[in-house]
Amino acid sequence: MFKKVRLFGQFVVMLSLALIFSSTQAQKPKVEGEKMENKEVTIRWFGHSCFMLSDSVKIVTDPFDKSVGYPVPNVSADIVLVSHEHFDHNNVSAISGKPEVIRGGQTKTAKGITFKAVKASHGDGRGDDYIRVWEFEGIRFAHFGDLGVDLTDSQYKEIGPVDVVFIPVGGYFTIDAEQAIKIINKMNPKVVFPMHYKTPVMGSGFPISTLEPFLKGKKNVVKVGKNSVRFSKDSLPKEMTVYVLEYK
Ligand SMILES: [Zn+2]
Repeated sequence: MFKKVRLFGQFVVMLSLALIFSSTQAQKPKVEGEKMENKEVTIRWFGHSCFMLSDSVKIVTDPFDKSVGYPVPNVSADIVLVSHEHFDHNNVSAISGKPEVIRGGQTKTAKGITFKAVKASHGDGRGDDYIRVWEFEGIRFAHFGDLGVDLTDSQYKEIGPVDVVFIPVGGYFTIDAEQAIKIINKMNPKVVFPMHYKTPVMGSGFPISTLEPFLKGKKNVVKVGKNSVRFSKDSLPKEMTVYVLEYK
């Protein structure tokens, strides 16, 4: 009788251990599932200020027309962002798939993503420019469009902390390399994509600077060597890094 009780006792202990083990096993996939919520984002450059972010939602920024010199982006998207209404930023008709177009000063939500518009200046009587700020797959992005003058303290506050920035560096129509460096040093994002600089395919209509003055003296520069790169929130670089993409 005594032995039986002891055996039963051992059985209860084993059963509890088995239950504890199986419950920790059952919790495990949930933890992994939570981590997997931060999916990778592919960032592809078409040239000038036009990028596409994908995969779960396809977002295109500032599509240009053929007069810029790069091949016109020929892709389908869910959302197109337009920073201001100039031909090298608003060629929305090039993008197929009936995208929702977000332009002007409205803060708008599309496909569950809120795109905040921060009013800025194109500079020199060129009108307004809208910096767009949004979070996608846990990463906070800011696209500066044709920002023409330095940011004010209240604009910095409105933009808030960001992980990835798309910033013009070519000068003439926009801020130049020196002004862009001042802004990124103040904002300290993890990833910087320079844009709106001169490349050999661009015509004389763009008397802007090449990328070189912006890269000069920078230690964390990755020349990707292709037109796209992928990040998840967890794989962003720890220190601010400039990524240079090819347009093709
Ligand atoms: Zn422009």
